[in-house]
Amino acid sequence: MKKEDCIFCKIANGEIPSKTLYEDDYFRVILDLGPATKGHALILPKEHAENIFEISEEIASKALVVAKRMAINMTGKLRCDGMNLVQNNGEAAGQTVSHFHIHMIPRYHGDGQQINWVPGDCTQEELEDVKREIVG
Ligand code: AMP
Ligand code: ZN
Repeated sequence: MKKEDCIFCKIANGEIPSKTLYEDDYFRVILDLGPATKGHALILPKEHAENIFEISEEIASKALVVAKRMAINMTGKLRCDGMNLVQNNGEAAGQTVSHFHIHMIPRYHGDGQQINWVPGDCTQEELEDVKREIVG
């Protein structure tokens, strides 16, 4: 199902033009308008789901297969040195468009981009507490 006022629904379903790298029955892969690096692409499901919590398991699993194939293809063509897959869920996590998408960000030695977090530190007890909170 498409959502009426969703820009990625419109792009994924071809109602708004985009630089399309790949398309099948379930997905359109497009170039990001604000690329972090050369070749920054977005995997957009054609069916609307806001985020990882809403997406069907079928589309979620197919999305990773598309990502794998695109990663191989793009790496060969662009001759990039690495590839980040980034997937944001919720405003707190940096999501700005509320239609599930996977960023594919080709990386080049010395590209100056940072897709990192600051590692923290914690004790074994703290890890154990978190583990218990999640798995019981
Ligand atoms: P996120 O912050 O994870 O929600 O990512 C949204 C991404 O969509 C950003 O990288 C934007 O540059 C990109 N974006 C927003 N609108 C468009 C558009 N019309 N076409 C292509 N990319 C877009
Ligand atoms: Zn949508």
